[in-house]
Amino acid sequence: MKCPFCGFSETKVIDSRAGEDGTQIRRRRICEKCHKRFSTVESASLSVIKRSGIKENFSRTKIRNGILKATQGRNFESEELDAVVSEVVDSIRSKGLAEVDSYDIGLAILEPLRRLDAVAYLRFASVYQGYDTLDDFSKEIRKLKRSRKKSSKTA
Ligand SMILES: [Zn+2]
Repeated sequence: MKCPFCGFSETKVIDSRAGEDGTQIRRRRICEKCHKRFSTVESASLSVIKRSGIKENFSRTKIRNGILKATQGRNFESEELDAVVSEVVDSIRSKGLAEVDSYDIGLAILEPLRRLDAVAYLRFASVYQGYDTLDDFSKEIRKLKRSRKKSSKTA
């Protein structure tokens, strides 16, 4: 990537973030010669392999919709939800893979969602992990309670 100001070919990335739809990455760069800053937008195609074997384009919107569904009626600010969406997108994007399993996307959503809200986590986990008995739910709730006790002790 050449500097648009002086044409020098050594530039350093100082910041990068995923674009709104998750298919582009914006990078903030600094020229190592003239020290001027500029932005570049890079496209990176990422496919999601669904359980059915069908491939589709990675979509930030779909991740957001999944999180919205799980947090419905829980009164979160859209900024709070966007932070979770960004965390998920960044963690998947940062692996630099061309393909990702839908199962791994679910896994990437679970942990930030658990930190955000226990109810939303359980809702999402119940769909994602296919809980079909009350027993599965009560096991998961016990696990949550244990981890909550642990974190309140350390806090
Ligand atoms: Zn320059």
